[in-house]
Amino acid sequence: MLIECYECKAKISDSAASCPQCGALPPDSGKSLNVTVSDLDMKFSTIFWFLIKAAVAAVPAVVVLYTASTVIGGVLSPLLHL
Ligand SMILES: [Zn+2]
Repeated sequence: MLIECYECKAKISDSAASCPQCGALPPDSGKSLNVTVSDLDMKFSTIFWFLIKAAVAAVPAVVVLYTASTVIGGVLSPLLHL
């Protein structure tokens, strides 16, 4: 069965994954819904792992900042007290 592309109004097959004229996905196809869902899943896991990595990366960063501030404070405090 032929349907009209909502983007370019070309007659395309309703079984086509996308419009051969402009590449638009049919708005009500199950294929585009699955792509959207898997895309959301991928983005969620990407954000999830980004947060895990950020949390892990924050630990040494805090240690480095704490060590640096302690060293700098240890060097500067005798100078400031002179
Ligand atoms: Zn089209």
